[in-house]
Amino acid sequence: MYTFLFCFAAFLATGQMSELVVVPREGWHARPPTATEPMANPVPFVITHHSYIPPACHTPEACVQSMQTMQDMHQLQNGWNDIGYSFGVGGDGNAYEGRGWSKVGAHAPKYNNISIGICVIGDWTKELPPENQLNTVHKLIAFGVEKGYIREDYKLLGHRQVRDTECPGDRLFEEISTWEHFGVKGERRQENNGVEDNKLFFFKHKS
Ligand SMILES: [Zn+2]
Repeated sequence: MYTFLFCFAAFLATGQMSELVVVPREGWHARPPTATEPMANPVPFVITHHSYIPPACHTPEACVQSMQTMQDMHQLQNGWNDIGYSFGVGGDGNAYEGRGWSKVGAHAPKYNNISIGICVIGDWTKELPPENQLNTVHKLIAFGVEKGYIREDYKLLGHRQVRDTECPGDRLFEEISTWEHFGVKGERRQENNGVEDNKLFFFKHKS
């Protein structure tokens, strides 16, 4: 009993500093994609989603199930090549590999080939994801920048900023809008002389 309590306390104390765990596709028994398209790195955007359905998961077993459910929805029901997101992040504090860093996703039309799409598993319209889940989102993005998959001057967007959807939920959207790299709607269009063109798009440094 005492050992358990001690370990638990130690975990809490170091929770903030815990290492990023990215569960590979084999770890959640992903079905192979029916096709893949390579994506050039580093990408300029990170797009945040919530799953809405399935609901939040808090154990690796439940989060594995959530990833499988999303892959079934996207691949079997929608007829897509694979789960749409680049990564899922669970309430168990793990990140789960979807299409990964270097394959075009299916999560945000016009941005699929220039972004990493992260699904924060759960319904975040009214509630904020737990701290460990949000920390994992931060760590996953930081890892992507460090390894050259994401541009250092990337812009973070909520799904609702690029299409008509309530995703990633009001509460999560409010949260990410306070994050350092949060991008303002329309910024991309302005910076490209009003023309939407994924290939020609580039950022101007703000300062
Ligand atoms: Zn979304």
